Amino acid sequence: MAANSRIEWTDHTFNPWWGCTKVSPACDHCYAEAWAKRTGHSVWGAKSSRRFLSDAYWKQPLKWDREAAESGCRKRVFCASMADVFEWKKELTPWRNKLWELIDSTPNLDWLLLTKRPHLANRMNPWGTSWPLNVWLGTTAEDQKWVNKRLPHLANSSANIRFLSCEPLLGEIDLSPWLASGDVDWVITGGESGPNARPSDPTWFKAVRDQCERHAVPFHFKQWGDWAPMDTVQSNIIPSRVLNVEFSTPVARFGKKRSGRILDGQTWDGLPAMA
Ligand code: SF4
Repeated sequence: MAANSRIEWTDHTFNPWWGCTKVSPACDHCYAEAWAKRTGHSVWGAKSSRRFLSDAYWKQPLKWDREAAESGCRKRVFCASMADVFEWKKELTPWRNKLWELIDSTPNLDWLLLTKRPHLANRMNPWGTSWPLNVWLGTTAEDQKWVNKRLPHLANSSANIRFLSCEPLLGEIDLSPWLASGDVDWVITGGESGPNARPSDPTWFKAVRDQCERHAVPFHFKQWGDWAPMDTVQSNIIPSRVLNVEFSTPVARFGKKRSGRILDGQTWDGLPAMA
C-alpha cells in the first residue's frame, strides 16, 4: 500500500517542481494542471514560471531512504505527478541537477521517472549509458501515433527498467515489436477520469493485456476511469450516461470509484521482476 501516494503502484510521490506545458492529446485534461489551478498556482504553459518547493519537502526522500534501509524493504518513488522531469525550460536546470543529487543519495529508493519527453530524457540525464539501478524510465503513449513516436526513444535509453504508461488509452495500439525485443519491462494502462473524461473501448485494454501475456511482460491495469463496460459494474448501479458510440461492449459513465479496476473478472497488478 502506498504510504503517501494514492497511486497503487508506488509508495511515495515526489515533485521536484509544479508546472508543465502540454505536448500531446494525453495532456488535454491534465489533472495536475487542474489541481494546480484549484490550489491557486498559475504554473502551466511555456510562459509561466514553475512552482518550487521548500527544503523541508526536499528532505522527505532522505527520510524515506533511511526508513527503507532500516526495514530492508526498497520503496518506489513516483517522480513527478505535477510536472514532467524532462521538460526543457531554463529555470528548471538547477532543480533537475538537485534531483539527480537526491537520487544518487537515496540508494534504497527506486525512482520512477515518467515523461512524455523521452527524447529529452536521453539528453538530459546525467548518467549517459550507465543509469543507476534505482532509476526506472517510463514514457506515456495514448495511441499508436505516440507509441511510434516515443517508444524508439525509450528503447534507446540505458535505464535498467523501462516502462510504458498507456493512460489514458485513446485508441487501439500494437506494442508487439517493442515487447518482443525486450525494450519494455512493464506496461501500465487505464482509462481517463474527470469531468471531460474520454471513454476507451474495453478491447483496447484487453489487446494490450494479451500482447503483454504473449511476451511475458508484466501488465498493470490501473483503473477503468469514469467510463466502464456495463457488464463490469454491479447491475443496481445506474450510470449517469450511456455511450452512444459503437464500441465492442456497451460502455457507460459510472464515475471512477464505481467503475473500479476489474478487467475480465480480475485485477491485474503486474510489476517488473526486480520490484
Ligand atoms: S506532460 Fe504530464 S504534467 Fe505535463 S501537461 Fe502533459 S499530462 Fe500534464
